[in-house]
Parts: sequence; structure tokens; C-alpha cells
Amino acid sequence: MKLLILALLAQAHVTGRHVDVFGERESAEKAARESDAAGARFAELFGKAPLRVAIVLTKDGKPERDPSGDLKYAVNKAKCIWRWEPGRGSEPDGTMLHELGHLWLIFWADGTDPPKVKHYGSTLPDWFDEGVACLFEGAEMHRFYDQVMRKKLAAGASMPLPEFFRGIHPDSKEKTDRPKIEDRALFYAQAYSLTAFLAERGGAKGMRRVATALKDGKPFDRALGGEGLPKTVEAFDAEWKAWVTRPPAPDEK
Ligand SMILES: [Zn+2]
Repeated sequence: MKLLILALLAQAHVTGRHVDVFGERESAEKAARESDAAGARFAELFGKAPLRVAIVLTKDGKPERDPSGDLKYAVNKAKCIWRWEPGRGSEPDGTMLHELGHLWLIFWADGTDPPKVKHYGSTLPDWFDEGVACLFEGAEMHRFYDQVMRKKLAAGASMPLPEFFRGIHPDSKEKTDRPKIEDRALFYAQAYSLTAFLAERGGAKGMRRVATALKDGKPFDRALGGEGLPKTVEAFDAEWKAWVTRPPAPDEK
């Protein structure tokens, strides 16, 4: 019996397409499966496979960071060793996929060098950074953000797009004169909603067009008008609002 428990607790290494996962076998297989599905979506949207990450699943914080010992996780050319304490249930770990989405986006936009300036996530605008991370969270959270967004719109409490694009993350420590968006629920819901609409309206090509423009420091409206995207921010805003208040699909009720 004791041997069996030891065997079950033994650390496994699961090699996925986009990640290497180290942890208890069942959790590691689940994390690799979910990360690979998110990685495939990332590749579709950004035209490039995400940078390979080695995920070390922790339990009550263990195994702890160990700069020299951690090198053993750097297999299959993984560019980053990342620790994650998985949720215990059988549900998809949307929070893990959200954080992984942030990591992938940072590498896509800024490479692997440490950032020169303190900002939230990547150098992309905070709303886009957060919206993309939310795209990987899964259907349940997406329905939740949709609901919040519908309520905010109905109450006239959404933010006008130029103001929203200028604002920074509620948790940002960036030194800037741009204002913080204090309403967290609105920030996440509107960031997700705009990004999800963008992905649906423009497909992967439209998404990449906007992501590339933002990465090059151009304002959002400079990316509009191509790949089937509306031509102006006003038109984008009107179409987005109509999309948010669309009737639910039969399986969404
Ligand atoms: Zn986030």
C-alpha cells in the first residue's frame, strides 16, 4: 500500500506539443492537455506557436524554486520554467490558461528579455493584454464576462472606447499619466468582450492585424478597415455593442 501511494505521488514528466508539465501524473496530463488546446488557439490567432514553457505543478508551494535544481526542467528547448498550483477539481483550470496566455503574449510581443519598464503584462495595451488572457479561460468564464458586459451596457456604465483604450489595468504599477480603470469588473468584462468580438469579427487575420499594429505602438484605429474589420472606432463600437446584446445561441440559455 505504501509503495502504491509513493508510486502515485511520483513526479511525472508529460511532454505536450506546446508545454512540458512536471507533477503528479494525472494533474500533469490534464494540465498538458488543456495547455496544448490553448496553445493551438494561440497559434491560430497569432500565426506562431507560443514559446515553449515548462510547467512545474506545485502542491502547497512545493517543489520550491531552486535556481540550479530547476535546470532539470529545461527540456525540449523550453524557454521558461513556470510554477503553477493547480486547482484540485476535474474542471478545466481556466486560471492557469489565463496566466499562461499572459506569458505567451509577453513572449510574442516582447521576447524573453526582462522588461525595461514596469508595466502590467506585456508592452501591449493593458486592455488587449488582459482580453487575450481571458480568451483562454473557457466557456464558463466567457459567459460570465458576457453577462457582466450586458448589464454594464444596459446601465450605461461601459466606458467609451477611446477612454477605455487609454486607461491602464486596475493593478498596474506603471508610472504614467494615463488613468487607472478603477472598476475591475468592468475592466475585465470589457477587455474580454472587445477582444472576443475582434477575434470573431476579424478572425485570426483581423486579430493579428490589430495585435501587430498595437505591438508596433500604433493606435487601435490604425488597424481598422482591413481584414473585414469596421473602418472607424465609432463603427467598431456600434458593431461591438450589437454583438454584446445579441440574442443568446440556443445552447447558451
Ligand atoms: Zn490577467
